[in-house]
Amino acid sequence: MGKIYDVIIIGAGPAGLSAGLYAGRARLSTLIIEKGKDGGQIGQTDEIENYPGSLSEETGPSLIARMTAQAERFGVERVVDSVEDVELEGDVKKIKCKRGEYSAKTIIIANGATPVPINCPGEKELIGKGVSYCATCDAAFFEDFEVYVVGGGDAAVEEAMYLTKFARKVTVIHRRNELRAVKSIQEKAFKNEKLEFMWDSVVKKLKGDGLLESMIVENVKTGERTEIFADEEDGTFGVFVFIGYSPNSSLYDGKVVMNKGYILTDDDMKTNIPGVFAAGDIREKSLRQVVTAAADGAIAAVQAGKYIEEME
Ligand code: NAP
Repeated sequence: MGKIYDVIIIGAGPAGLSAGLYAGRARLSTLIIEKGKDGGQIGQTDEIENYPGSLSEETGPSLIARMTAQAERFGVERVVDSVEDVELEGDVKKIKCKRGEYSAKTIIIANGATPVPINCPGEKELIGKGVSYCATCDAAFFEDFEVYVVGGGDAAVEEAMYLTKFARKVTVIHRRNELRAVKSIQEKAFKNEKLEFMWDSVVKKLKGDGLLESMIVENVKTGERTEIFADEEDGTFGVFVFIGYSPNSSLYDGKVVMNKGYILTDDDMKTNIPGVFAAGDIREKSLRQVVTAAADGAIAAVQAGKYIEEME
């Protein structure tokens, strides 16, 4: 049998890298498996204003680069590979990847979650340049600008209300003529004078050279298309998309207890399987932010160390 690590961490976003840092510092032999670039969602975020200690010049990639370097300083091993299957039961857990197989006494699941995109032309290119999936992260960049929110559920309406504290005007674009959000949230929203609604409408295209400058919205009942342009003085506007969130948890289907795809843990990040922990956005939790992901990772690594001590 090959090497058995103390800890294998799946995913190198803030939760996984923080887990790596704490596991490495505790002298646990640790491997982080990441299929692409480090950073997860914040790898695509232009500015990070709300991570403690980050100043205005901080970007998602710059913060992540420091997190990566810090974890590696403590001897954490890295592999770039795509996990295809996991065997989580028993004292030795196996992670089967496209190019190799790895074993460990404990596993920290930190695959994150992905906001559901509109999937229209221009959206991908303009992420962080007008298009956002996180009001808590990006609202402050739209102080006094016009903002559009796509969606009609609890998240869209709550986040739209939050955005009215920053933006000059917020318009919710919803594909039907009534909201899905619960009535209590709707009542508050309809009283908010800075909030407007564009019913029966979907965003078909986002346009801009460097920054979001205009978008094409289609009325689904009449088929009529309208191009909405940024105010000339502003030069840009915001589009916040809240049409659902998808945890990256299909690998663990039927193996770990979940609720709507989010992995359930206790306060120590323990899942229902001994020696298996989950951290970050893949967990069921109330606030999905870099700071909470990093905290989860630290807790999971410390608990993994305790689990190993108790095994021995
Ligand atoms: P959601 O409830 O599934 O709502 C998604 C919204 O996006 C719906 O209005 C849906 O339209 C719309 N939508 C879906 N796909 C779309 C597409 N391709 N193009 C345009 N619009 C699209 O999701 P959520 O608001 O993220 O909430 C997720 C869960 O978290 C829910 O259970 C919610 O109750 C909960 N949550 C609770 C709170 C709270 O209690 N304070 C806050 C946030 C979230 P249709 O209505 O036409 O389907």
